[in-house]
Amino acid sequence: MNRLIPSLCLLTVLHGFICFDPLYAEELEVLHWWSSGSEAESLNTLKKTFKSSGFTWKDSKIIGGGGANAEKALKQRVSSGDAPGVVQLKSAALPQWGALGALQTIDEAAKQQDWKAILPNEVLKSLKYNGSFVSAPLNVHRINWLWINKSLLKKVGGTIPTKIEDIFHTLEKFKKANILPLAHGGQPWQDATLFETILLSAGGTELYRKILVDLDSSSSRSAKMIEVFQILRRLTSYMSDDRRGLDWDKATKLVIDGKAGMQFMGDWAKGEFLKASKEPGRDFICAVSPGSQNAFIYTIDSFAFFKTKSKSLVKAQNKLASIVMDKAFQINFNLKKGSIPVRTDINLDSFDLCAKRSAKDFAEADKNSSLVPSFAHGNARPSDIQEAVSELASLFLNSEMSPKEASVRLSAVLKEFE
Ligand code: BGC
Repeated sequence: MNRLIPSLCLLTVLHGFICFDPLYAEELEVLHWWSSGSEAESLNTLKKTFKSSGFTWKDSKIIGGGGANAEKALKQRVSSGDAPGVVQLKSAALPQWGALGALQTIDEAAKQQDWKAILPNEVLKSLKYNGSFVSAPLNVHRINWLWINKSLLKKVGGTIPTKIEDIFHTLEKFKKANILPLAHGGQPWQDATLFETILLSAGGTELYRKILVDLDSSSSRSAKMIEVFQILRRLTSYMSDDRRGLDWDKATKLVIDGKAGMQFMGDWAKGEFLKASKEPGRDFICAVSPGSQNAFIYTIDSFAFFKTKSKSLVKAQNKLASIVMDKAFQINFNLKKGSIPVRTDINLDSFDLCAKRSAKDFAEADKNSSLVPSFAHGNARPSDIQEAVSELASLFLNSEMSPKEASVRLSAVLKEFE
């Protein structure tokens, strides 16, 4: 973390050369996984503000959507005693790092900006370990979205699906017109993202919570859960056969470029549409995944702070936390990222219709108890169980496994972690 600046020596008449102690310009290392065009552009707004406050940013980008690779890298770094000062980390991972004594509190920044007054309760809880703030939130992303190319939809005479069965009518229309109906990248985290979206859309918030929050193995053998797998199986027949390994932003690009009709994905996908100068309502449609209109799967991007002995780095950490929570930053960052500000006191006039809808639905879902944490993106459960379920979802989507067998296997996986 330290960068050595060469000693400064002066030639004096009385004492010859006098050299000063070496100075250390300390760099704050930030480990993250934001690498797509819109992700990088959003992060740049933070880098710039941080640097212009006189601090030095050391960028550690670990490529891999959803952050699984970044978490592996973090484990290695911490076990070799070389933790980065700041890490993009989801809330379900905090307790395990806290228990290892690895987290640094940033109560100073939280107190100065009175986070308690400007953040929703659900979010406040997720930023603390042992009663102290150890993480700073940047945004709220919604997962249960369906992105549709508007002119293609018009061309094939399709309608925006509002019920599960409608999805298949629209997909059929694209298929008949020789357009790839559903863009999807076959990577475990993307498969898990689709899995949780369809589970919520077809099974509702109760089944979602039972399976992905409570890890209730008996619910995973229910007729409803088998139906969820049946829907997923039907969806695969509208995807490209060579989707394995395709990055999420490349799948989004297929929809942007008019090569595919639609994609299920969190609203970081909107960041890519915007970066390509596409406008919601004019060029593309942000539809809530059919069946889940009144519910909201959220994931919150946050930066967790790791322990350091250096006082100046602690100062830099607190500075970064307060920039992240600054009103202007929350607006500029989220306009690019596709998400909405996490602060509740921000005027959304400059945001598009998808963001406005997201903010309204978030508040309503919070009131109606239909706000659920994303499992696939690390807000519901830690990475070990998250990985096991994602692998199963991926195996199911990429094999001939029957929906019944998938429900039995899911039950076994959940039982291990119950
Ligand atoms: C993060 C997003 C990110 C996406 C794709 C999600 O887990 O919350 O910020 O854009 O992964 O990498």
